[in-house]
Amino acid sequence: MSTTKKYNPYDNVQAVVKNAASILGYSHDDYEAVLFPERELKVSIPIRMDDGSVHVFEGYRVQHSTSRGPAKGGIRYHQNVNIDEVKALAAWMTFKCAVVNIPYGGGKGGIVCDPSKLSDSELRRLTRRFTAMIAPIIGPDQDIPAPDVGTNANVMGWIMDTYSMLKGHCVPGVVTGKPLELGGALGRHEATGRGVMLTTLNILKALDIPVKGSTAVIQGMGNVGSISAKLIHKAGLKVIAVSDVSCGIYNPEGLNIPEIIEYLSAKKGNLLKDYKGDGVSYISNEELLELKTTVLVPAALENQINEKNAKKIQAKVIVEGANGPTTVEADEILKKRGIILVPDILANAGGVVVSYFEWVQNIQSVSWSEEYVNERLKTIMDQAFQAVWDIAREKDTSLRTGAYLIAVKRVVDAKNLRGIWP
Ligand code: GLU
Repeated sequence: MSTTKKYNPYDNVQAVVKNAASILGYSHDDYEAVLFPERELKVSIPIRMDDGSVHVFEGYRVQHSTSRGPAKGGIRYHQNVNIDEVKALAAWMTFKCAVVNIPYGGGKGGIVCDPSKLSDSELRRLTRRFTAMIAPIIGPDQDIPAPDVGTNANVMGWIMDTYSMLKGHCVPGVVTGKPLELGGALGRHEATGRGVMLTTLNILKALDIPVKGSTAVIQGMGNVGSISAKLIHKAGLKVIAVSDVSCGIYNPEGLNIPEIIEYLSAKKGNLLKDYKGDGVSYISNEELLELKTTVLVPAALENQINEKNAKKIQAKVIVEGANGPTTVEADEILKKRGIILVPDILANAGGVVVSYFEWVQNIQSVSWSEEYVNERLKTIMDQAFQAVWDIAREKDTSLRTGAYLIAVKRVVDAKNLRGIWP
């Protein structure tokens, strides 16, 4: 957290967008509307808990932009969810969809809750009631939710069912990241981590750093972190440290990633602090971020690399698996120190790209093979990386600014071509 001022991720978004818009030569009027979310819905969700009591949860759905297509973005279940975070996450989705050029705007939702403390039936009731309460503003042509921190394919299945029940017919295209049996896409579960792996290989290649001998440190062992770890390890990098909420584990000789993933997924509640492996030492999440490594992948939450620790980061390259893990102040410090950072809106876009593939399949009632999905994902990730790399070199900016130059231009141009109604 910033020592001078309370961290607000939406301030981060506005600062980055304004900077890109000014480099692009836009006037304030050109981009003014892009600085604000189009729509913010707050709901109070009453749930009958298993013990018979009633608890009211707070939930949100924010649509930042629908200029380039329906709003698109995940639903987060986490105790720290708040409106500024959801607004920032929604805006990041707008620019993420724009940088990989898929026809969506951006949205995000969340419920303030700790899903690990809720039973399956409480989670199901919470999800269904929340879906019913946001149903007036979501839909396959309007706003399409997906998984995020604390939610998964099962939750998406309940959203799909609830929305379909309200409509009176099956609407698989209302949500992505569903179970395969309900119209989910092959490859979606691994897509964000696969995109992070592809981006890692792209940046190493661009910087002429050989994969062999490169090391990786990964913060977070949720969907994004664990699959990034698995695929980065498979690609030939030595993963020397990973962490979850309980702690980090470190072995300079390389961790046994397949065994760690198997251990974590064997039982709900298994944590790294109880994992026993040869040569493993236990470190804090803070220590993990400051390890000497070729690649650091923050794949947990926002505000992990900030002005407090940016001076101590020893990675050569940072690939942002999470949304917003680095603050604007930290960006400046890293840039001055020559640390290359591949921004979230590019590095973790694999998830929403395959969400798009899922939605395309749903609305056409067709189904693609996993091979085809992965191939198309790679084409999009490679092209987007190259475009960002090229513009950043051409304009002599960071890769984050480069990504925003492309994304802000697409969003602002679409908005201006449509014009302000009425
Ligand atoms: N929650 C993911 C993200 O932040 C995926 C969003 C989606 O698939 O719509 O990119």
